[in-house]
Amino acid sequence: MEYIHIDTCPVCGHNHSELANTCIDYYATGEKFEIFRCANCGFLFTQDFPSENSIGRYYDTKDYISHSDTNKGIVNKLYHMVRNHMMKKKADIVRTHTHSSAPWLLDIGCGIGVFLSEMAKRGWSVKGIEKNKEAREFAHRNFGVAVNGPEMLDKFEESSFGVITLWHSLEHLEKLNETLKSIHKLLVENGTVFIAVPNAASEDAAHYKEMWAAYDVPRHLWHFTPDTMRLLVEKNGFGIEKIYPMPFDAFYVSMLTEKYKNNKLHFLSGAITGLKCFFKASKNPGKSSSVIYVLKKAETVNFRV
Ligand SMILES: [Zn+2]
Repeated sequence: MEYIHIDTCPVCGHNHSELANTCIDYYATGEKFEIFRCANCGFLFTQDFPSENSIGRYYDTKDYISHSDTNKGIVNKLYHMVRNHMMKKKADIVRTHTHSSAPWLLDIGCGIGVFLSEMAKRGWSVKGIEKNKEAREFAHRNFGVAVNGPEMLDKFEESSFGVITLWHSLEHLEKLNETLKSIHKLLVENGTVFIAVPNAASEDAAHYKEMWAAYDVPRHLWHFTPDTMRLLVEKNGFGIEKIYPMPFDAFYVSMLTEKYKNNKLHFLSGAITGLKCFFKASKNPGKSSSVIYVLKKAETVNFRV
């Protein structure tokens, strides 16, 4: 096993950080991992996480939902309902922020290609990047979309894409700044980037503390808040044009957390907590369970926040 120890904050470059939470990998191994907070900018990251070559076994259970299409179990059913609803919402958001001609779209961490398939149906030319080989094959076989491995990210030509999306994938990527630099290069001058990630400053994160299922250690390496995301993207030549809340994620995350707590009534307890967090966040999008960040290159950003 090879572990990555973070001495220098990937967001602000300072080298002093402290323990914020100790979390358990409920999903796959039951192992403990520590989340550290940068003493300067407050960025949260999983400390000593398995390297890209060693992390495979932490994804290695049959029902990793973003890569599978099973419909078993009430939490999974709910996940799929929300996923379909959110996919349509995402497609609409992409349209809202994009110029009329349908350009090339790249989805990084596209999983089995559900979003790419939806966008292709809407007339977009699409490409995907996905590190899981089985998911890539599934996407090709079932949706006929072109999906490459992560090595392809540096092989596309400069300014190839008008839209680049990362739906709940940036938090999984070891090379955080490098990925954002590649995206900057691949994006046309007036292009748009959409990044959805769990929000460590959310109501549900505050409620569940170290139990919060969206810490999802060690698969989630980085735990963003609106403040730290802003610092990170500005450092890499982007500006945030708009932030969309994804408050429905509070239901799924709360149910999953209650399930991890071995609560037999996890569906009910999760629904109640999810509802409370949903309402609290409805008054403040920065407290939403997950957030979609809309980015433009810094020189072209048109602030609508
Ligand atoms: Zn920092």
